Amino acid sequence: MSMGFDKETFKKSVLFNMKNVFRKTVDEATKEQMYQAVAYAVKDVIIDEWIATHKEYEKQDVKTLYYLSMEFLMGRALGNSIISFMAQPDVKEVLEELGFDLNAIEDQEPDPALGNGGLGRLAACFLDSLATLGYPAYGCGIRYRYGMFKQKIENGYQIEIPDDWLKNGYPFEIRRAEYATEVKFGGYVKVVRENGKERFVQEGYQSVLAVPYDMPIIGYGNNVVNTLRIWDAQAINTFSLDSFDKGDYQKAVEQENLAKTIVEVLYPNDNHYAGKELRLKQQYFFISASVQRAVLKYMENHDDIHKFYEKNVFQLNDTHPTVAVPELMRILLDNYGLSWDEAWEITTKTCAYTNHTIMSEALEKWPIELFSRLLPRIYQIVEEINRRFQQKIGEMYPGNQDKVRKMAIVYDGQVRMANLAIVGGFSVNGVARLHTEILKNQELKDFYEMMPEKFNNKTNGITQRRFLLHGNPLLSEWVTKKIGNEWITNLPHIHRLAVYADDPKCQQEFMDIKYQNKVRLANYIKEHNGIEVDPRSIFDVQVKRLHEYKRQLMNILHVMYLYNQLKDNPNLDMVPRTFIFGAKAAAGYRRAKLTIKLINSVAEVINHDRSIGGKIKVVFIEDYKVSNAEIIFAAADVSEQISTASKEASGTGNMKFMLNGALTLGTMDGANVEIVEEVGAENAFIFGMTSDEVIRYEREGGYDPMEIFNNNYEIRRVLMQLINGYYSPQDPELFRDIYNSLLNTISSDRADTYFILKDFPSYGEAQKRIDQAYRDESWWAKAAILNVANSGKFTSDRTILEYVRDIWHLEKVNVEL
Ligand code: PLP
Repeated sequence: MSMGFDKETFKKSVLFNMKNVFRKTVDEATKEQMYQAVAYAVKDVIIDEWIATHKEYEKQDVKTLYYLSMEFLMGRALGNSIISFMAQPDVKEVLEELGFDLNAIEDQEPDPALGNGGLGRLAACFLDSLATLGYPAYGCGIRYRYGMFKQKIENGYQIEIPDDWLKNGYPFEIRRAEYATEVKFGGYVKVVRENGKERFVQEGYQSVLAVPYDMPIIGYGNNVVNTLRIWDAQAINTFSLDSFDKGDYQKAVEQENLAKTIVEVLYPNDNHYAGKELRLKQQYFFISASVQRAVLKYMENHDDIHKFYEKNVFQLNDTHPTVAVPELMRILLDNYGLSWDEAWEITTKTCAYTNHTIMSEALEKWPIELFSRLLPRIYQIVEEINRRFQQKIGEMYPGNQDKVRKMAIVYDGQVRMANLAIVGGFSVNGVARLHTEILKNQELKDFYEMMPEKFNNKTNGITQRRFLLHGNPLLSEWVTKKIGNEWITNLPHIHRLAVYADDPKCQQEFMDIKYQNKVRLANYIKEHNGIEVDPRSIFDVQVKRLHEYKRQLMNILHVMYLYNQLKDNPNLDMVPRTFIFGAKAAAGYRRAKLTIKLINSVAEVINHDRSIGGKIKVVFIEDYKVSNAEIIFAAADVSEQISTASKEASGTGNMKFMLNGALTLGTMDGANVEIVEEVGAENAFIFGMTSDEVIRYEREGGYDPMEIFNNNYEIRRVLMQLINGYYSPQDPELFRDIYNSLLNTISSDRADTYFILKDFPSYGEAQKRIDQAYRDESWWAKAAILNVANSGKFTSDRTILEYVRDIWHLEKVNVEL
């Protein structure tokens, strides 16, 4: 147990907070008030460790990682914090003594959702691992006023509700006004001559004040508390009389408005570039503040700015934070008066870039007009980086305009952020082995040839503390009973479970736990959807963002196919199946939203058809987010990871299912490849084209979905049901767009861009294998246990250790209280 925790003190602290914050005694308190009082008490427990951690970092003059990310999908903090200082049983008891249930209190916490999906959740898992491993790190991001929208389903359609997560205040954050930082936008650059040297000064700008809020990131059982620092925006000086006098009224209003809008909302696009001006403002806002602060902090205890990179490293989570490169250059050139070469050496030794996707619609390219208007000095620096880089291309590949066309940073009226990130740092990593290979050999081939030493792979990972220890208490107790608790901080240790995979008693215990977790999810579904599902059926789950490349459409088309089989033959011999979906669609992504409507329409018909004897149920879980994800993973039998091969860089949901003993039904894509390698192909259900085949078709053509449509009666029947009103009697044309997307070229999009019809037969075969396999309970239990036992590689602790070894070079710190 952490040194800071004492049960009686904790109880007193809860009572004190209740009185002090709410002027109430415990018997008058609501659950929400109890949650707040407990959260403040938890903060009391960790605050000394938080201070001690930072004292220790200072004392040891450590190298610090700044993990720069537009998104942190943290999920709830309370339960995780209590687990981290190993006081869960005590806190549970305290609450029981006060007449409350810990789970119900945890449920009161809003789910801080400052992220879209995998990328933001990865950042959250990384922070957990960094603290648990004792590495000095800050997460740096934006304190969005509204996080990821809440999803409601009305009449089968997604409705977006603002996520007002700060409504009642957030007990875990601390405002750090002393670190407020000015960030400047717009205006123009003036050249001033001083002592024979040119200096560049931005004038006529608007500015906002960036004010940081710190949240504690608690290491597991080690007294380390790191910081997630998210920036809020404030007007720099509201309506000063000064401004009126000078006739600057307009400017004062504009600065006020800029501050209000800049952190207002998280863009709800996953893997998609929207190119909005406000988005670039958000990027520069949090990057400028974070980088300025990092430099100031360093200079508080050091006098040589030239050695900045020895004590600081910036990891760019995708291209969103790439302005960190020119921003650091700006500070070094303009504030510290360094030469270009000096500044460039420091910058390129500080920055490192993680690539998360190869999909062209996700590539960030800003029009020069917008970029230079908003960030005039930064644009000058980017131009100069580009000029020098093009010169280098010219030296290495004389006269090769093709190389310039592909690799230039500023080209064709646009600033290409990925190219800037690659050139401006010392490391470029992909997020799974296959993805990194595709980067090296296809997407970023020219860069790889020019600078192979920068490229490396870091296969993503997940934290077992949240997704097994916290999310699945029954299984985690069972695992600990069998093999001890070392797996909590050393996941590969979980391999010791493998010896139990063949043991009938252990198989039975495992399946009982799975059953109880399915009952827990069934209750959640009953409460939230009003649908009864049978926990004895196979829980076949696809939860993730809704995206065409993730192919939720293939899944639901297969459900439609299966339903046709059942209608033809109500006695069809099949194991009852519950198909569970959960997915948010970006608010402006029409086809994705229509797919949600299709899933719900199919559910409506099938769930009400008594003639099929409940053999299929279809459930769409509203508002998929970290807190219900924990419940869903624990209850899954089948994990649907069915993206078109080559499109999913890694996936991390796939790992969470595996850790909870679900069997993967997947393509050879992203980290699925490595999952299958660890668990063995015989313990997963793999189907579909390989990434090489997909890439070949994309390059050479030759795929015609119409041929499949014409020759495959079952597929044709399913597709016709999209346009004959079978699932939308009031509006038979409703799903026409989906039908068209599979069979017709639409503007420049090839028919069936994601090869759904091509992979459909082999997907159906894999589904049949699952139906057969599940009948042998002993086989299934063994395979499920082996999935848990072989999940060791996929801990984010391993990922972080690799980043530390190859990129960050941090030192582990011990914190004694
Ligand atoms: N959203 C939430 C809430 C998650 O927990 C995860 C899992 O990692 C994701 C999105 C990403 O899922 P996937 O990797 O399947 O796209």
